[in-house]
Amino acid sequence: MIRESIFKVRERIPSQVIIVAIAKTRSVEEIKEVVGLGIDNIGENKVQEAIEKYNELKGCGIKWHMVGHLQTNKVKDAVKIFDLIQSVDSLHLALEIDKQAAKINKVQDVLIEVKTSSEATKSGLKTQEAAGVIKEISALKNINIKGLMTIAPAVALPQDARPYFRALRELREKICDIGIWDFGFGILSMGMTDDFEVAIEEGSNMVRLGRAIFEG
Ligand SMILES: *Cc1c(COP(=O)(O)O)cnc(C)c1O
Repeated sequence: MIRESIFKVRERIPSQVIIVAIAKTRSVEEIKEVVGLGIDNIGENKVQEAIEKYNELKGCGIKWHMVGHLQTNKVKDAVKIFDLIQSVDSLHLALEIDKQAAKINKVQDVLIEVKTSSEATKSGLKTQEAAGVIKEISALKNINIKGLMTIAPAVALPQDARPYFRALRELREKICDIGIWDFGFGILSMGMTDDFEVAIEEGSNMVRLGRAIFEG
């Protein structure tokens, strides 16, 4: 079933767009199957669950992504296993990542999570504050900002998510224009099972797929 799902999803995604299989609540066996089918970017949203799977899947060549909200008391463990922390949503969190990464001589790749909608509940920097915070984070030695991530709000139709994706792309352009640094070709991680096609139309180059892969 996973095989067919991946086949179907690949037909709808240009080859330059990176697929991250979001494996929260899925088993190690399921992850092995996905990796065997050529998707080696695996995302988790809880540090503890990720550590357990990481330990069982060592040597499989997986690149681990943290996509859930990260608490500062989990950062020490997170920097040990994650290749890309996609959910950096405050300077406070970035400072802790920088500190813990320095302790293990790592430069941690991260994405900055931006909330382009006005939903009260979701984590992520506000669009207006993002450039300023990114500037501060970019000065940290043990963090490397690779791009931006957003989670669109739940909407009735995939098309309704378009403005939130467009806002993230425009933010990347703005950051590039104000010359904080060359951000032009950075990662735009946006699009999930229900809305990835619209996200790709708006410039996504990394999609995070859970149900589309594991439930077909
Ligand atoms: C669960 C999750 C996904 C995948 O969601 P699907 O709708 O199942 O594709 C993507 N991103 C984040 C941050 C998630 O928590």
